[in-house]
Amino acid sequence: MSDIAQHLLQVQTRIAEAAALVGRSASEIQLLAVSKTKPLAAVQAAYQAGQRRFGESYAQEAVQKVQALRDVGVSDIEWHFIGPLQSNKTRPIAEHFDWVDSVDRLKIAERLNAQRPDALPPLNICIQVNISGESQKSGTTEAQVLDLATRIQQFPRLKLRGLMAIAENTENDAVLKESFLRLQQLFGTLQQQFPSMDTLSMGMTHDLEVAVACGSSQVRIGTAIFGARDDRQD
Ligand SMILES: *Cc1c(COP(=O)(O)O)cnc(C)c1O
Repeated sequence: MSDIAQHLLQVQTRIAEAAALVGRSASEIQLLAVSKTKPLAAVQAAYQAGQRRFGESYAQEAVQKVQALRDVGVSDIEWHFIGPLQSNKTRPIAEHFDWVDSVDRLKIAERLNAQRPDALPPLNICIQVNISGESQKSGTTEAQVLDLATRIQQFPRLKLRGLMAIAENTENDAVLKESFLRLQQLFGTLQQQFPSMDTLSMGMTHDLEVAVACGSSQVRIGTAIFGARDDRQD
């Protein structure tokens, strides 16, 4: 078994144990494997081990990987773009991805809607919310989410699916829990108005247990699967 296959099993075990602790079923929580900065071979190893959902953060690198895998006949991966989006880079994302989990302003949503090819199903969208309040982090404010959700729902080539957030980088579980629970509550409120919302994306390598305890339905895991990165940003 490859190291990556072993790491995937370990992460699945962490998810299952965290879910069991709060009486949730592990099947309610999707694992998004975050392969940003990692070579194509790493994605292939995870794919071989059965992983089908991948997240990428850098547009150019991401599109190269999506195309390279399609060229070798791999067509059953669900690709999520999870990075900060500049408006001049939306087109390749609209053309090659299944989801954009990091939409945080109307201008980006407008462009993705206009650029989504008609031959493809609507692009699945999560709104990224800045729950840590740190000003350098991407994400819309909690106060603006309802407005943005209302606009996104009106775009025919987008499908509003949920909320995504990155918590503060801290070991303090109480701080993490406080912000995850706030997002969970916001999500619950929005879901009543927008029934297409079924995805609450929160939890990364260092905080997945707290996120699962707070109702996450999608954890985004890079380091624990693929090893440490030299991050260019985040
Ligand atoms: C890089 C990244 C992750 C993965 O983080 P790890 O700590 O390596 O698990 C998750 N979500 C987003 C938005 C990221 O940019």
